[in-house]
Formats: sequence, C-alpha cells, structure tokens
Amino acid sequence: MSRSDVDVVVVGAGFAGLYLLHELRENGFSSRVLETGDDVGGTWYWNRYPGARCDISTTDYQFTWDPELHDEWSWSEKHATQPEILRYAQHVARKHDLYSGIDFETRVVGAVWSDESRKWTITTSKGENITCRHYVMATGCLSMPKEPDIPGTDRYKGPVYVTGRWPHDGVDFTGQRVAVIGTGSSAIQSIPLIAEQAAELVVFQRTPNFSVPAHNGPQPADRVARLREDRGAYEAEARLSTSGVPIQPSTTSALAVAPDTAREMLETAWQRGELLALGATFMDVGISRPANEVVSDFIRSKIASIVKDPKTAELLSPRGYPFGTKRPCMDTNYYQTFNLPHVRLVDLNTDPIRSITETGIDFGSESREFDAIVYATGFDAMTGAIVAVDIEGRDGMTLKKKWANGPLTYLGLTSVGFPNLFMITGPGSPSVLSNMMVSIEQHVEWIRDTLVSMREEGFETIEPTPRAEEGWRAHCEDCASITLFQDTNSWYMGANVPGKPRVLFPYIGGVGRYRKICDEVTARGFLGFELTGSVATRCNDGVVREIQPDVESVLEMMATLGLPPIEAMSPVEARAFSEASSAVRPPGPAVGEMIDGSLPGEAGPLEYRLYRPASGGPHPVVVYFHGGGWVFGSHVSDDPLCRDLCVQADVAIVSVNYRHAPEDRFPAAALDGYAALRWVAANAASLGFDPARIAVAGWSAGGNVAAVAAQMARDNGGPELRGQLLLTPVTDGSRQHQSHTDNADGYILTKSLMEWFWNHYADPADRSNPLASPLLAPDLSGLPPAMVVTAQYDPLRDEGDAYAEALSAAGVHVEHLRAKGHTHTSITMVDMLPSSVPPRRAMASALRRFFG
Ligand code: FAD
Ligand code: NAP
Repeated sequence: MSRSDVDVVVVGAGFAGLYLLHELRENGFSSRVLETGDDVGGTWYWNRYPGARCDISTTDYQFTWDPELHDEWSWSEKHATQPEILRYAQHVARKHDLYSGIDFETRVVGAVWSDESRKWTITTSKGENITCRHYVMATGCLSMPKEPDIPGTDRYKGPVYVTGRWPHDGVDFTGQRVAVIGTGSSAIQSIPLIAEQAAELVVFQRTPNFSVPAHNGPQPADRVARLREDRGAYEAEARLSTSGVPIQPSTTSALAVAPDTAREMLETAWQRGELLALGATFMDVGISRPANEVVSDFIRSKIASIVKDPKTAELLSPRGYPFGTKRPCMDTNYYQTFNLPHVRLVDLNTDPIRSITETGIDFGSESREFDAIVYATGFDAMTGAIVAVDIEGRDGMTLKKKWANGPLTYLGLTSVGFPNLFMITGPGSPSVLSNMMVSIEQHVEWIRDTLVSMREEGFETIEPTPRAEEGWRAHCEDCASITLFQDTNSWYMGANVPGKPRVLFPYIGGVGRYRKICDEVTARGFLGFELTGSVATRCNDGVVREIQPDVESVLEMMATLGLPPIEAMSPVEARAFSEASSAVRPPGPAVGEMIDGSLPGEAGPLEYRLYRPASGGPHPVVVYFHGGGWVFGSHVSDDPLCRDLCVQADVAIVSVNYRHAPEDRFPAAALDGYAALRWVAANAASLGFDPARIAVAGWSAGGNVAAVAAQMARDNGGPELRGQLLLTPVTDGSRQHQSHTDNADGYILTKSLMEWFWNHYADPADRSNPLASPLLAPDLSGLPPAMVVTAQYDPLRDEGDAYAEALSAAGVHVEHLRAKGHTHTSITMVDMLPSSVPPRRAMASALRRFFG
C-alpha cells in the first residue's frame, strides 16, 4: 500500500477517529489518520484544566463497540476526570493497535477534490500531499478554541491559560491573583479548584449559567444494575433515546402539577446528579416557556439557598433565557466557591472589560493586576475545526464560502458539491445535543456501511442532491422552531463567535429519530444521494423527512397504543371512542364566556355552544361546524380549536351540533348547517353579535358543511357572509384524488376511514350533488372570501387544494395555506403540537381580515 494514496483519510484521533480507524481496517480499507496533537484522545488530550471531567455518567460515556472493554476497564467515578478518560482512549488505541495508523503532530491544512480522478488531495502541515477516495473530518465539535475577542489580549505579559489548550504538566496557582474570564462548563468546573490554590480569584461573568451539582461518586447504582442485567437492551435504549442516555421520557407537563409537587420532583432530579435529569422531569421544558420557568425558578432558588451574599446570588442566577437553551453545566461546589472571602464575581454587563493590560485587566472603573489570566471563553463550535481546513470541492467552491450564511449539510454527514466528504457529528446532526459517544458510534457505523455498500455495488462517489440537502435544512428548522433554543445567545446558535451565522447548528430532533432517518436513507437505496462509478450512476433524489417532528412523535405514540381502526367499530362505538379521546386532551385557552344552548335546525332543535371573547362586543360571529365525518363529534367536540380561534381572532364562535349519519343521512348535515347559519344571522343582535359580520368555518366534514352553507347562503338569499374558513375540508366524494392514495394510511384519517364516513353519510349517487361535494357546484363565483387550509399528509389534501383553486378561478378571493408536514388532524391539536400554532395563527388572522 502506498502511504500517499489511500482509500480513506481521517482527520482527528479523538474517539471518533479512533473508532473509524478500527472499522476501516476491519473492513479492508487502507487509511491514514492525521492528528495535530501528539497523542490520541482529542477533547481529553487538550482540555487538561483543573476539574475537567465528563458530565455524562461513565456508564453511558464510553464505547459500546468492543464488549471486552466493559470487563477490562472499570471507571473509578460516575464523572471521570480528564486523565482517566484520556487513559481510556489510550488503552483502546493500544489494545487495537491504532497508534500505528495515526500520524501525530500532523495538521491537515487543505483538501481539494478532483472530478477527474474522483479523489481528494489532502495537504498537511508537514507539506505532504495524500490522495484518497474518501475524506472524513473527525475533527470534533469542540476542538477549536474561540479566537480572543477581548480588547488588549495580546498586551498582557503574564501567563495566559486557555482551558481548551491547557499545559500538559499542569499549573500551580498557589498564592496567585488569578482572573478567570467566562462562566461556561469549563469555567464552572475549574473555578472551585483554582480558588483552592489562588490567593485571590476574580471571575468575569458575561452570562450566568444554569449548573446542577454532580454529586460525584461511584457510577449510579440503578444504571449499573440495568447494564449488568441486560447490556444489549440498555445500549439499544440509549441509541433510540432522545439524547443518547436511556431516560424514560416524561409525559407530565410542568404546568399540570401543583407547585409543591413540581418542586419535589425537581428536588429528586437535583439529587440524582445527572446532567439531563432536571430537563427530563417534565415533557415540556424544552418547548414551553412557562413550563421552563418552573425548572429555571427551582434552580434559581437553589442558587439563592447556597450563595450567602444575596447580591452575588442574584448575579449568578440566570434570567432572560430558558434553562437548557445554553448548555447546562455540572459542578462540584461552584456556587459554594462564591462564599469564600477571596473569590469575587464581576458582572461584565455593568462593569465591562475595557482592556486587558500589560499587568492585568481594566474593567468598569477599576484597574486590577493579576498574576495569571485564564480564558474559559469556549470554542468556535461545530464548524470551527471543519472550515479551518481549506476544503475545496467541486468547481472551486470552498466549504467555508458555502457555509458563510450557515452550514448546509445532508444529515450533518455530507454536503452538496463535496463528493465523498463525510463529517462525524457535523452540523445538522444531534452531536453536541447528545451523549456524544452514542452519536460518534452511529456516524462511524453509517460511514463504514456506506463505504462497504459503495464498494460492493461498484460506486466510487457519493454526494447528496440539492433537494435532499434543502429538505434536511428545512427539517432541521422545523425541529428547531418548536423549541425555545432559537432566541438564546448560545454557542449552539453560533452567538458566541462574532460574525458567525445565527442558526441552530446541531439537529434537535433527537438521537433516536435521527438514527432511524439515517437508517431509512440507506434502506431506501441512499435516498437523497447520487452515486457514480465507472459502470453505473444512480440518483435517488428525494426528501427523507417532511412531516413535522411533533406530529411524527404523536403518530408514533399512537401507533404504540395499538388502537382499533375506527372503521371496524359501529357508529355508536366510534362516538364513544371519540368522546373518550377528547376527554384527555388539553382544554385550550380560557375564553370570556361559554354558553350552551339550542337552536332550530332543519328538522328539530340542535345544540350549540357559544364562545365569546373577554373583550367588549358586539363581536363578529363565526358559525362553526365540527369534524367527525358526519358520524361523530358534537358542538363541544372541537372545543380547544374553537376556544383558540375565539381568543386569537377575538371573534364569537357558535359551534353547532348538526344531525349525524347514519341515523340522519345526506343531506341532513348540510340542511342543518344552513338552518343554523340563518338562525344565528337572524338573532345576531340579540345574541350580542355584530349582524353585519358573519362568517362560517369548519374542519373536515364540518368544512364540507361550512362550504355548502356558504353556497346555500349565496343561492337562497342570504345571509350575506364575510368569509369562509375551511380547515382540511371534504369537498369531493365523487372520485378518487391522488392524495387518497398518497396518504392512504398512517395519518389517523385513512382512506378506508374516509370511505366508512361516506358510506354512512351518502349514497354513491348523492355524492355528486354539490350539497355533498361543494367542489362540483356548477358555479363558484359570488362566494365569500375563503381561507382554505390543507395538510400535506391528509388523504383530503387534493380535494381541499382543488376547491381553493376552483374558488380562485371563479374570482373568489382565496388564501390557501398548504400546511407543510401536517396531517388531517394535527392542526386542531391545541397546546399539544407547537408546530400547529403557526397555521392556527394564520387562520385567526384570516378571520380578522374577513371582518376588517
Ligand atoms: P475530538 O475529541 O474533539 O477530537 C478531534 C481531534 O481532531 C482533535 O484531537 C484535534 O486535534 C483533531 N483535529 C482537528 N482539526 C484537525 C486538523 N485540521 N488536522 C489534524 N487534526 C485535527 N461530550 C459528552 O457527550 N459528554 C461529556 O461529558 C463531554 N464533556 C466534554 C468536556 C469538555 C471539556 C469538552 C470540550 C467537550 C466535552 N464533550 C462531552 C464533547 C466531546 O468533544 C465529545 O464527547 C468527544 O470527545 C468528541 O470526540 P471527537 O473525536 O469527535 O472529537
Ligand atoms: P462556553 O460554554 O462557550 O463558555 C464560554 C464562557 O465564556 C461563557 O460564559 C461566555 O459568555 C464567556 N465568554 C466568551 N467570550 C467572552 C468575552 N469576549 N467576554 C466575556 N466572556 C466571554 O465554553 P466552555 O465552558 O469551554 O464549554 C463549551 C462546551 O464544552 C460546553 O458547553 C460543553 O458542551 C463542553 N464542556 C463540557 C464539560 C463537562 O462538564 N463535561 C466541561 C467543559 C466543556 P456568554 O455565555 O455570554 O457567551
């Protein structure tokens, strides 16, 4: 084998590089691993500051790929120290003869792709050029310390220490006056130990962090027991978990328990000494600000109880950003350290650093001399080490340039224009939002399997398609936008490095979901990739995930319940089932007033519920028709949605219980809908509504009733309507649409359930009647302005789309919202699905516009 031409060049000899080297060798690929440092370990080689430890328990922060390691290596502590973790990396490297495959003290400076040779040429700091078919950046997410961005850093004449580049033989601060700048994880771990030695310690804090106590000691007994009992099951659970640590996800909202109970639950989590325990106590800490405040308040109360000086305690208390949106820290005696007389906290918001000087620091109105300055100012995370190498892909494009506005990747593993380039734990993968051992192993194995598969099939290059990459960007954004992360100035968002683009760099959809997606990409013939070789080219273009992540979670959860299909039930059973399901959902926002009453329908009284806003009237009124396929549902069955629309649009809603099939078949529902509309219009003033501002709305079959009522009002002399809001409406029962097939199954409303509804409601001959299928009305002109909302994963999608288009073609003003990634039911799930908020907000805005 020539050393200057290999199958794979790997950059970095941290845990990622080590495991990849092992797997490449096992699978017969020639390789070179190039590493700047003079030993293995990566993070654990460089970060030798006092107190450096892992903050994920060693039961979980270790390799799983070599089962023998579990017997031959035992961790001395739950949160092992840096030297012990480094020894572990060295042990693994020695055991598997990995040192022989690594070039140390060799920095990669450039990489250029050639379309002609279909190879990369890698250039090193030693001036060597190495060609390779595949090029893997295992360069670490937190390996590039942030450039100093404080004025005067180069003026200081005394010793300067950077936590991420700590001297190998340690530092003795005994008797010294020390400044520590930064209060992130590295600072929080090192400050208590530096304080033990220093004569005087000043901590410069820009943003206080949430920190939880490590309660270090032996590995957690319950985890050790589970591992002993069934290691395979434990590790499998970790791989499919949200964060790479097997923790049972909470199903409890922080807002659903009494404050005392919440505090007790959080106290238990606090005592566990596990980084993820507090955030995992409640299901909504990451997505709901009020729920997050319950946890944030708890931690602040802990800080107040530990730190004796109330002013210092308050300065150390994070406010203004949600817990977890900056990486939480784990400490041993951090807050207690501020009770020591020689330790002082400086708030940089009130006393900013004016300049580092030759002898110390000028801040606020003070000038202080220091014997040493410690920069614990963090990293150019996720992308820093990648773009530090001049990586030039196809057509001279560099990765740095391509990523100027934020990293674009497919799966965080690959990037368009850079064939055969792989990144381990790259931006767009769970990486730093996970136990990174789990994420590293998954990436290494995916890359290994991909290279093996390419070799077997005779492919030489692999590159994602622009569509797949854009789809992944959108999916990452969908995941991020339902969380609280995007508003916080964190390194997750690139906010710590001046000029860095503001996007959520890691993928926040969870380790388990991510793994399933990567596996799916492979199983679907490398979906979203183009593969080329001398014999064949294959491009399987597509987007791997478009469904909203929270919608997908609900569908997955429902799938585990093994619920019987509704169409296997009788209508009576289906109604009972529907009522039971409604009983366990969140109620929706409080409205000013709710009144139940009855109104005259076409063939007798119909129940209704009136929702009135708290604001002063008279309000415009929306006559609302519920979903339920004309078979089940009632005037109260869409309660959360009605409340939400009432509050958000500031309109009154009258929700009507029209007659149901099969007892009352077509056209009973349609006639009742119109009768209810007429009654509301006739009694608008006495009910406290504005008679000149009436609209109809409905969801699903109710959308059908609303559309039909609007047509009947036009054709039968009123009432005059200001608008019609149709949410995933049934508009055409006469024929099959493509979406009936595309979304036949798996999205709650199925094709067969829709057929069951129609069979109960209308004879086939009646389904072409415009009173059943409003899309088939011979003339759609003269109808009130419409908002039609359709959902991507709804069998009814194309019917709704067709109605919106037909209305528009007939001259009706139409707002048409195609809700990406939603299902027939998801938009109605108030307070359950954050992704359903924007479409409902758009619906409320449409109602406001109808009414001027
Ligand atoms: P790294 O360990 O960062 O290794 C990358 C290697 O690439 C480095 O050795 C670097 O020198 C080399 N390199 C980079 N660029 C080049 C180049 N151009 N040429 C040659 N070599 C190059 N994660 C957890 O899950 N749990 C924890 O408790 C935890 N604690 C952490 C504590 C600290 C102080 C830090 C900084 C990070 C911590 N992390 C933790 C994240 C940690 O980075 C990962 O867990 C893991 O060690 C990363 O391994 P890696 O091999 O991907 O990258
Ligand atoms: P960090 O979390 O980014 O913290 C850097 C600190 O320096 C922050 O307090 C930051 O303030 C401050 N800072 C940065 N620039 C500054 C400036 N110009 N002036 C004043 N203050 C400035 O970095 P880190 O502590 O090295 O940790 C990085 C990540 O590594 C962690 O989040 C974690 O993932 C990992 N890590 C883990 C452990 C562990 O316990 N296992 C330990 C260390 C690191 P702002 O917050 O205002 O930006």
